[in-house]
Amino acid sequence: MSAENTSNQEKSSILIIYTGGTIGMVEDPKTGSLEPFDFEHLVDHVPELKEAKHLYTSIQFNPPLDSSQIGPQDWAKMAKTVADNYDTYDGFVILHGTDTMAYTASALSFMLENLNKPVIITGSQLPIGRFRTDGKENLITAIEIAASKRNNIAIVPEVCICFQNYLLRGNRSKKINADYFQAFDSFNYPPLAHIGVEIDINEELVYKQASVKPLIPHYNMDPNVIALRLLPGITPDTLKGILSIPNLKGIAMETFGVGNAPSFPWFIDLLKEATDRGIVIVNVTQCMEGSVAMNIYDTGNAMLEAGIISGYDITTESAITKMMYLFGEGYEPDKVREYMKCDLIGEMTIHDTKEN
Ligand code: ASP
Repeated sequence: MSAENTSNQEKSSILIIYTGGTIGMVEDPKTGSLEPFDFEHLVDHVPELKEAKHLYTSIQFNPPLDSSQIGPQDWAKMAKTVADNYDTYDGFVILHGTDTMAYTASALSFMLENLNKPVIITGSQLPIGRFRTDGKENLITAIEIAASKRNNIAIVPEVCICFQNYLLRGNRSKKINADYFQAFDSFNYPPLAHIGVEIDINEELVYKQASVKPLIPHYNMDPNVIALRLLPGITPDTLKGILSIPNLKGIAMETFGVGNAPSFPWFIDLLKEATDRGIVIVNVTQCMEGSVAMNIYDTGNAMLEAGIISGYDITTESAITKMMYLFGEGYEPDKVREYMKCDLIGEMTIHDTKEN
């Protein structure tokens, strides 16, 4: 399905939410460093927007932010902007810095329950005012996709990242390159669309809600979760220090390969003691691609016995924001563990129920 063809037939109204990021940045004449700038400046560089076939309105974060400043409160602001304007618009485009875009996309996928309209997040590697910018193309393509509908029904009703050649499921995406225009990928789920001369959407891959229900926005995200990347040589003191962080509730533990970790008794004992105290530990692989399978090696089995749960092929970004969401909803650790084992909104593929 080509997004351009469908959107030609039906005019859509789009809300653009400009949060900041390189796409709208300008150079500070004194220091030469890039700083976020306002949306009007951005539009000046995309005259095509003024003649766009779709109607668009914009709302901007004040001040616009570098995405390394963005956190749960900003996600709540984005979710609220979508929720408050949900009935007025056919789709939403969020302009956002690339650095934490995958976290925002993952977070919003959990926060916008029953979402039935496109929320397309994009940005750029070069500011929109620069001659070789990728921002113009990304923005126009994101609008085209957010606008695409058939018989008044959105073709991509989920949170996505649109960047360069791909449309990716938001909660499967990762930033993979700091320099190249192709800055995002989704290793464990195919692109929802290939963007070239045509925008080819593979509708089979798009998330479909079982039925149309009213949007339920969730605004509380509990920040008391961390990612812990295991390293060869990790010491008991390091692990003890991490596990005794005050108020810590959840850990996305990035393990080796298919979910392996040291099998030293002190290591397993410390983890078991933490899970017994109610800390939820999810096993996520350090590999870019592939899934955790904890019943292949002894170390995996020992971790299962210590109460650690498999994150299967979930990204760290998704595991972290899913826990923030579940704890933010006020669930007890056992309930959080239960939900972490389930695919809530297309964020993971459960391949082997023996780990459940
Ligand atoms: N530092 C910028 C940001 O994430 C980088 C970018 O937008 O590409 O806001």
